[in-house]
Amino acid sequence: MSSPDASQQDTGSSRLWSVDEHLADILAAVRPLEPIELRLLDAQGCVLVEDVTVPVALPPFDNSSMDGYAVRTADVQGASEEFPAVLTVIGDVAAGSGELPAVGPGQAARIMTGAPLPPGAEAVVPVEWTDGGTGAGAAAAMAPASAAPEGAGGEVRVHRPAQARAHVRARGSDVRAGDLALAAGTVLGPPQIALLAAIGRGTVRVRPRPRVVVMSTGSELVQPGEALTSGAIYDSNSFALAAAARDAGAIAYRVGAVADDAESLKAAIEDQLVRADLLVTTGGVSVGAYDVVKEALSSAGAADGGPDAGRMEFRKIAMQPGKPQGFGTIGPDHTPLLALPGNPVSSYVSFELFVRPAIRTLMGLPDVSRPVVRARLEADKALTSPAGRRQFLRGAHRPETGTVSPVGGSGSHLIAALAHADALMVVPEDVTSVEPGAELDVVLLG
Ligand code: AMP
Ligand code: MG
Repeated sequence: MSSPDASQQDTGSSRLWSVDEHLADILAAVRPLEPIELRLLDAQGCVLVEDVTVPVALPPFDNSSMDGYAVRTADVQGASEEFPAVLTVIGDVAAGSGELPAVGPGQAARIMTGAPLPPGAEAVVPVEWTDGGTGAGAAAAMAPASAAPEGAGGEVRVHRPAQARAHVRARGSDVRAGDLALAAGTVLGPPQIALLAAIGRGTVRVRPRPRVVVMSTGSELVQPGEALTSGAIYDSNSFALAAAARDAGAIAYRVGAVADDAESLKAAIEDQLVRADLLVTTGGVSVGAYDVVKEALSSAGAADGGPDAGRMEFRKIAMQPGKPQGFGTIGPDHTPLLALPGNPVSSYVSFELFVRPAIRTLMGLPDVSRPVVRARLEADKALTSPAGRRQFLRGAHRPETGTVSPVGGSGSHLIAALAHADALMVVPEDVTSVEPGAELDVVLLG
């Protein structure tokens, strides 16, 4: 924890931190995870840490791009509907064929898409340019090789000439052996995984997805699906943040709500440390009587035997929602822990601003934060915002018009409005009012 001003009077917990300072402090404490070897599909969305070179050319051999006949160009020179070239069909070549018939003068081999070009052949004539063949070879009419007879015998009439290499995909025309397939730093999406598979890679070295444990706190919380008792509410934060953690690229472990009891919380955190690269808690960080996270994890809490919790700091951030935030490292591995406020919108906005970048930094991804665009405010009345706070209001962004309009009010309990928004409208610290038509920054939630 760096405390830019560490004087006694102005410690990290008493002064107001800016959003940017808090984020910078978190990111300075988070290092990308050590690379591991993962199977291709497990590496989806991860960052490659090795340069992958092509071991064998793609395609590995000259092959046909059409179903048709492999021919010698001289044999079909000048061929037309009126004067077709008549060739003897010497056999079939299917995709996967190992033994290839040699095509001599006056001969053709029936060939399927992807099948190797047989020796002697210089081009492929699509089946549409022929009569489809007659006799033994044609009887199978492009059936799979296993079902086809040998394919030899019979004739085919070709109606058009063919240029050399017509409908032939050349060996190495995609990538050549020794080429760089993918450079270290590439994020593996479906097309990159396709290439790795096509060149025969079963596993790759990547930074793994971080394991993120999400734990909500509050004795009032009931798990969805169970009956609500008087005064209780459903735990939505642990679901929202586990989903958000996955969306950011993490493997999320959702821990059901922990009661407002410091000992239970310490025990629960200690239990979870073993499977966490990052811990996220919600609730219990403000100044209420039952603010258990603060109680359990602040230095005072650690002194009576917490899970090695001396490095947590609880702060006020100049933002709305999300003013109270806790951050530190915990346990023998100094696992980062972000303690977010409990109000559902506060915890979600805090996740987007602080946890998502932390997750993406652990993954070594280049873009750690959501995209921000400028948009014009479309609203009936001006937005008002407290002085000295960066406000994040829920909005609906319309890229076609470059506008954004408010969804719901500023209350941090408004879960339904959040569910119908796709953006956060940002009102800077020094702005207290935004008129309709004015431009503001908009965080796109994707
Ligand atoms: P706290 O910061 O713990 O005082 O929580 C602030 C408000 O958010 C209270 O009204 C809580 O009931 C509510 N809250 C806290 N945790 C959750 C949760 N996991 N799901 C839904 N609401 C919550
Ligand atoms: Mg609470």
